[in-house]
Amino acid sequence: MRVIDDNNIPVMEIFSSIQGEGKFAGNPAIFVRLSGCDVGCHWCDVKESWEAGKHSIMHIKSILDEVLSLDAKTKKIVITGGEPLMYGLTNLTALLISEGYELHLETSGAYPLSGKWHWICLSPKKMKLPKNDIYLKADELKVIIYNKDDFNFAIEASNKVSESCSLLVQPEWSKSEEMNIEIINFVKENVKWSISLQQHKYLNIR
Ligand code: SF4
Repeated sequence: MRVIDDNNIPVMEIFSSIQGEGKFAGNPAIFVRLSGCDVGCHWCDVKESWEAGKHSIMHIKSILDEVLSLDAKTKKIVITGGEPLMYGLTNLTALLISEGYELHLETSGAYPLSGKWHWICLSPKKMKLPKNDIYLKADELKVIIYNKDDFNFAIEASNKVSESCSLLVQPEWSKSEEMNIEIINFVKENVKWSISLQQHKYLNIR
């Protein structure tokens, strides 16, 4: 029987790469991709992560062992998904921090925040809105732009985050040709915002 709890979490993959997007784009990082997501973005580029049952459940000590086995120079770990906050992350983050790692979370915020984080990237989705209490804890608000209405969604979300939160708009990959000029104009008019690009796709790295 599959048991999922705060010590046993479904994991799709663990690998060392370069952070492709957001405030830390271009930085080397270790990625721990948890599996399971019910947010349902139709343009999602990691649909393989949606079904938690397709991936192994790993004990948090095994997750640490696999991270250590990568022998990566970076101490930055990005916990991503899927939607990582579907699971209680207090124990996993405590263990990784005890080993000196700097933890970054990438989340839609649709589930309660757990764990201890050095950086929280909130990427809200219209289909399943973030819990209210995560907005003020976000260090980075990254809104994916698929169509023009997403700019209104971005402004609404930005009214809920802290003054120090970095504001980023990022073209959805398949729409970038169409939306890039809109995004450039938006940032010129709304100067607190910056553009995030999925650099890993331009560089053809995962
Ligand atoms: Fe995909 Fe993330 Fe949307 Fe889930 S929240 S469907 S993983 S883009």
